[in-house]
Amino acid sequence: MGTPLDYGFKNYNHYGAYLKKKYDGQRVYKIIADAGFTCPNRDGSKGYGGCTYCNVDSFTPELSRKLPTIKEQIEQGMARAVKNYRAEKFIIYFQPNTNTYAPTHYLKMLYDEALSINTENIVGLSVGTRPDCIDFEKVALLESYADRFDVDLEMGMESIYDDTLSKINRGCSHQELINALNLAGGSKLDICVHTIFGFPWETHEMMLKYADEINRFPQIKFVKLHHLHIVKGSIMGSRFARDPFKTFTIDEYTDFIAEFIPMLRPDIVLQRLFGLADFDLLIAPNWDMKKSQIQSYIDKRLEEKGVVQGSNYVPVSPILV
Ligand code: SF4
Repeated sequence: MGTPLDYGFKNYNHYGAYLKKKYDGQRVYKIIADAGFTCPNRDGSKGYGGCTYCNVDSFTPELSRKLPTIKEQIEQGMARAVKNYRAEKFIIYFQPNTNTYAPTHYLKMLYDEALSINTENIVGLSVGTRPDCIDFEKVALLESYADRFDVDLEMGMESIYDDTLSKINRGCSHQELINALNLAGGSKLDICVHTIFGFPWETHEMMLKYADEINRFPQIKFVKLHHLHIVKGSIMGSRFARDPFKTFTIDEYTDFIAEFIPMLRPDIVLQRLFGLADFDLLIAPNWDMKKSQIQSYIDKRLEEKGVVQGSNYVPVSPILV
């Protein structure tokens, strides 16, 4: 007889199950759209070079990027998802760079275009951005789509410590994330935050504290957990070559999230448990497994360890606006 995991049951809220339930078992896929944005810590408005862990290869000057149009990207992405995964419904995901870093009227044009391509089968809009590139007008714009689509606003939290945010040249403080969460709180947007574990100066205890901080914001619906990976073309990658430091093995990382997930609020949906970089870009840690193998390995170990999301959750006072 198999274990619950063999039948697809996991003791944490995972995004796959969430989508399946929400869309009555239909196959829903995210289609990535690159609108050619940059970031304020790249273009000089807040700094240069970008976050130190971020790969700069994709940040070639806009004119030389020769990106297909949004329409082409989405149509091609949908065709691939249908062919390879028999996808039925789609979420348009503006992922690379900072996808609200432009005037609101321009963003409206862009999102309108993306959402008008296949109105029958597009069910959602997901926008990845930085907390310091969110304001009231942009929240209102995103909310204006929420009657017809599920709208997911994804913001990089990365670390809850300003010292870390400064060391990684984030150009954005934790308080700015809190401000953005408060701006979007009470809106119709589904809010997702993205974390990174494994900065060498953060201790185990410091990283576990992220859970308490996330739990304090009832408006956070989704979380993406990432382990720090060092990639070629990043500032951290060059530093790492000169001065390597310890990164997570897969077992160490699994042990860590096995402690972390029980501390998370039970209603939060985990969109992702680990980071992923292309093998040709990845410097460390190289777990030498494909995405699906990492997922299965971690899930199996979480099951063996009896990990249950929320089992160690300690309610904390919500942050007041
Ligand atoms: S991590 Fe995000 S905000 Fe930082 S430089 Fe890269 S794309 Fe920009």
